[in-house]
This record gives sequence, C-alpha cells and structure tokens, in this order.
Amino acid sequence: MNIHEYQAKALLRSYGIPVSDGRVVLKAEDAKTAAGELDGPLWVVKSQIHAGGRGKGKFKEPEAGEKGGVRLARSVGEAAEFARQMLGRTLVTIQTGPAGKQVNRIYIEDGSDIDREFYLAFLIDRATSRISIVASTEGGMSIEDVAHDTPELIHTFTIDPATGLQDFHGRRVAFALGLEGAQVKSCVKIIRDLYRMFTDKDMDMLEINPFCVLKDGTLRLLDAKMAFDGNAMYRHADIVALRDESEEDPKELAASKFDLNYIALDGEIGCMVNGAGLAMATMDIIKLYGAEPANFLDVGGGATKEKVTEAFKIITSDPQVKGILVNIFGGIMRCDIIAEGVIAAVKEVGLKVPLVVRLEGTNVELGKDIIRKSGLNVIAADDLKDGAEKIVKAVRG
Ligand code: GDP
Ligand code: MG
Repeated sequence: MNIHEYQAKALLRSYGIPVSDGRVVLKAEDAKTAAGELDGPLWVVKSQIHAGGRGKGKFKEPEAGEKGGVRLARSVGEAAEFARQMLGRTLVTIQTGPAGKQVNRIYIEDGSDIDREFYLAFLIDRATSRISIVASTEGGMSIEDVAHDTPELIHTFTIDPATGLQDFHGRRVAFALGLEGAQVKSCVKIIRDLYRMFTDKDMDMLEINPFCVLKDGTLRLLDAKMAFDGNAMYRHADIVALRDESEEDPKELAASKFDLNYIALDGEIGCMVNGAGLAMATMDIIKLYGAEPANFLDVGGGATKEKVTEAFKIITSDPQVKGILVNIFGGIMRCDIIAEGVIAAVKEVGLKVPLVVRLEGTNVELGKDIIRKSGLNVIAADDLKDGAEKIVKAVRG
C-alpha cells in the first residue's frame, strides 16, 4: 500500500524527523489561505499522486503550464495560481505511464534553500532478507540512471536483525554522503528515527529523494515515498486510514475488499483459479497455447459463493476480457460452491464472452451437474490442458 507525500511527511514529523511545514489543498479556492499560513519567501507547490518523477513530469492540458508537477513560487498569489493550474489536471511522469494520473490534491510547502541533494532509501533486500539502507550523493535525479551509469556512487548498508540498527550505520551513511561536524550527529539521529518508523509501521520501502543539506547547514527531507506491507495492514489502522482509493486500479480495489488476490494484466483471457501455484500454472498454459492472461486471480481456499460471484464480476468488468477460464481444483474449496458462484454471477452480470470451466476434486460431479442443469452456455473441460486449449480456441478461433 502506498500513501501520498504529504501523508508521509506528517508521519516523518511525528517521529521528530526534519521536514518542511506544509498544507494540503483539495480545492483551488483554499490555496491562497494555505500558502498564506507559510512564511515564504519561497513556496513549493507539489502535485500529490502515487508516482515519482513529478518535477520532470508534464501535464496533458496546456492550461496547467509547461513546468511540471513540482513548481517553485515567489509569492502567496503565485503559489495559489500554480495550485489552481495543477488541480484536476493529468500529470504524466516516467512512473505513471502514458495515461498519466489526475491531480486531486496539492501540497504547498515552505520552500527550502538547498545546498546539496542526496538520495536515501530503506528497503527490504530480498537477496539478504534484511533491511538495507541505500545512500548516494547523487540525489534529486533518477536513481536508476545513477545505478546504471555510476554504480560506485551508490552505497548500501545492511542491518543485521539480531542487533538491529546501530549508530555506526548512521555514521557510515553520513560519511558516504560527505557530511561533517554536527551534520554527522544529526544524520545518525535521522537514520535511527527512520529505522524505528520503518519497522514500527511495517514498511516495504521508504525513499527520500532528495535528502538535503540546506544553505544553513541543517539536514532536511524534501521528498518522501512510502510503501507498506499489505499483509501487515490489519495492525495499522492509522496507515489504512491514509489510503487514497482513487489512486488504485478499481478492479484491484474491489478485489481487495473481498480479500481476493487479484492483479490486473494486459491480456484477453480472464482467469479464476484457486491457489497461487495453480493460478501461475494457468497463466503459463494460456501463454503456451498462444494467448495472454488478463489477470492473476486466486480466490483462495475458503472462498464462499459471494466471493466467487464478486471475483466473476471483477473479471467481466474488464473490457479487454474476450473469454474466461475457470480452473478449480477442489480440495478445501468444494467444486459445487464454485459452480453455484459462477452461475449466480453469470445470472447477475450476464455472459458476453465464452466461458470454459474445468473442475476437479471434492464434489466435482455435483459441481458439473449444477453447471449442466443451469442451462448456461458453458464449455466444460476435462483437465488444465484441455481447458486452456478450449478457451484459446474460443477466443482466437
Ligand atoms: P519528484 O520529482 O516527484 O521526485 O518530486 P520532488 O519532491 O523530489 O521535487 C523535485 C525537485 O524539486 C527536487 O529534486 C528539488 O530539486 C526541487 N525542490 C523540492 N522542494 C524544494 C524546496 O523546498 N526548495 C527548492 N529550492 N527546491 C525544491
Ligand atoms: Mg523526488
């Protein structure tokens, strides 16, 4: 789960980590008051979307100006004007894809006088199964380019979970960034607080770009991107409350409400499968027969008729879906439940594309019987190979 920059900064502030003062604005008419509450003489007007690269991004509408999704203003009036131009417009950045994202919230921040910009991140390193800190003097720009062109400028420090974070980690980061004197001590404290926040809140990733030395020599975090472990959100009601559903794929959002493991993909064959392994195998075999899956969907072991109905609705709501393959191995899940769910869903939403159903396992005969007696136009398949062949043939001819 991701949150907006202004929400991330509020969280940082609550941990005593230095960020600028700022105000979030949802309506253009509130921008002037918000900007007026900040000191100036510089204001940063920032589009809030769940994607990076906003500074170098471009709006689709010419009325939003040529200057990107992060702009520096020299007066309250100018800040309000930039906010008005950006609100409701579509910002395209390297991370949004060509469709871009609509800007519905603006963050107006007290502008900082930057001396140097660094890159700082905390992440869970899959290779070592540990939390790593990544730091680089090459901040403010695309870290992917730095990693590609000058990998020696990226420093990684791995934290042993048995000892946790130690002050020497913070000192190493400070020295890698060329900090001196009081900045070292301040960096050690920031790293310690960031680690505490990262582990307290079950984060997957925390990226600060840029992490800055200001002209007065102090350190400040000017941008923040946070991602949280979705499986841990049941114990973080405060984080769940920050969720902005308008930033999420509507199909994935509906799936998450019914506790379905669903990922939207680009293909034309919708899949409803139980078990992650079988779902992967089903996607593979669809590809093997020359088509592409439209989604990954694991309805889980203990799915109810309602859950199956919802899953079916989500699949059919995707206009790219030209055919559906239901592939269920009934172990804990009973085939008759699946059959009833499929039929209930088809009766509710209608069926405009071919549907192939392959059932195997507990109560399989009962399940097949329910489908046969439903009078629906369902193509029955005997096994995985047969199911994949039949749906690809039905879609591709
Ligand atoms: P991103 O483009 O989505 O990563 O958005 P950032 O929040 O990182 O802003 C982009 C760039 O705007 C930063 O790299 C800075 O160079 C600049 N910027 C952001 N905040 C300030 C500020 O307070 N003062 C100044 N002078 N520049 C800023
Ligand atoms: Mg940034």
